[in-house]
Order: sequence, then C-alpha cells, then structure tokens
Amino acid sequence: MIYESEYGTVDFWDPYPRLNEFKKIGINLSGGADSSLVTFMVCRELTERKSNAQVNFITGVHNARPTNEWNAREIAELFREMFPNINFGEHYFDYYDKNHEKDKVNHHAAHENRLRDEGKIDVLFHGRTANPDKEEAEAHNLLYKREERRDKHGNDREPYHEHHGKPFYCPFEFVDKRFVADMYHRFNLMDDLFPITASCVEYAEKTDYFTKPCKECWWCREKKWAFGMYDGGLQ
Ligand SMILES: [Zn+2]
Repeated sequence: MIYESEYGTVDFWDPYPRLNEFKKIGINLSGGADSSLVTFMVCRELTERKSNAQVNFITGVHNARPTNEWNAREIAELFREMFPNINFGEHYFDYYDKNHEKDKVNHHAAHENRLRDEGKIDVLFHGRTANPDKEEAEAHNLLYKREERRDKHGNDREPYHEHHGKPFYCPFEFVDKRFVADMYHRFNLMDDLFPITASCVEYAEKTDYFTKPCKECWWCREKKWAFGMYDGGLQ
C-alpha cells in the first residue's frame, strides 16, 4: 500500500513480498507516535491481505521511567478494538536498568534477539523515522542531542533487510515525523491514538512525576515540530 504525503512517500510492504511468509510479526512498540503508526499500517495491510499472521508487541521499559509501559498497553488495547479481525498474540515486556547512554539500544536488541531465538517472532518491525533535514533541524533547534544514526545517511540503508539472518523492516527510514503527523490527520488518528502516545524521555523530576512532557528533550521538540503540540496535545 502506498502512502503519499508532501513530506515523502512510503511504499509499505508491497516491495518486500518476503513479508508475506512470516507467521509471527514482532512490532517494537515504544509507546510513541511512530511505532504506533507502523502498527496501524501493519493492521491495515494484514486486513487487506486477509492474512492471519500473528502480531506481537515488544516494549522495553527502563525501570526509572516506567510510564511508557502504560502507554504501550493502552495503544495495544486500542488496536485490538480497532482491528478485531487481526490475530494479536503476546505483548512482550523487557524491564531494564540503564547505566550508560547506549544501554537502551543494547537492552532492546538483546530482548529482540531472545524473542527471535525462542521462535516467538520471525520478523521485527521498527518505527524509527529519519531526523529532520539539516535546514529544518537548525531552524527548529533539532540538531542538538539528536540521534545521529537517524540521519538519512545518503539513502544507503535498506528499509527491509535480513542481515545476520534477522529479518527487519523499518518502513519510515527515509521519512521524518512530519510524514507521521500527516498520516495521523489523514486517517483520523488525532482523537483516539495521538493522545495516548508519549514521546518524552525525561524522568520524574522534569515531568512532574510523569504527568506532563518536559518540553525540552529532543523527542518533545521533535513532536512539537511535526504535530504542533507536545504529548497529550499540550501547547
Ligand atoms: Zn521531553
């Protein structure tokens, strides 16, 4: 299915017929807007294809920031209601402590690898989007503290690959969050899905014990840039 926006086009699933062979899909559901949109598109695709492939959610939870578990659970519940025809499986959680900046990535990868090794998933879907282009980033204070691995890297990445025998699909590799926002509006996801997504990665002291976004971290600034509002619709 092709999704077009003034911010880029995503040719979802169709170019990769191999995706039809997998019976246990794993979706990295962080609780943010991007991975939620991947889930939405997967559900539409499986519905269209009359596929009974199982959809499993995978959520990593940093013990000092436990609230994304609640977001992820709510989002999963919403999709069960929206797509009663889809064969939803498990929601796998991984709880970890973080001592170094790289720990999050490493814990997530280790958890995903365990699920692959145990045969619980056979392909992993990821919602990572691209960083804004340099000009946009400079204009909106999005260069500072960005994740450099999300830069577009001159298009040398493949949205679908099987490196090291690990099937992996990252459909938004080359579109930024403005594409995501456009899809939320187009598919009427602003009223039900958007309010339960959370992007802020700050801790208790900067979020009034997780009751509001910090409005300072990179992910807060990116969401404001793309959607015109922060988590929960705050201005
Ligand atoms: Zn924040």
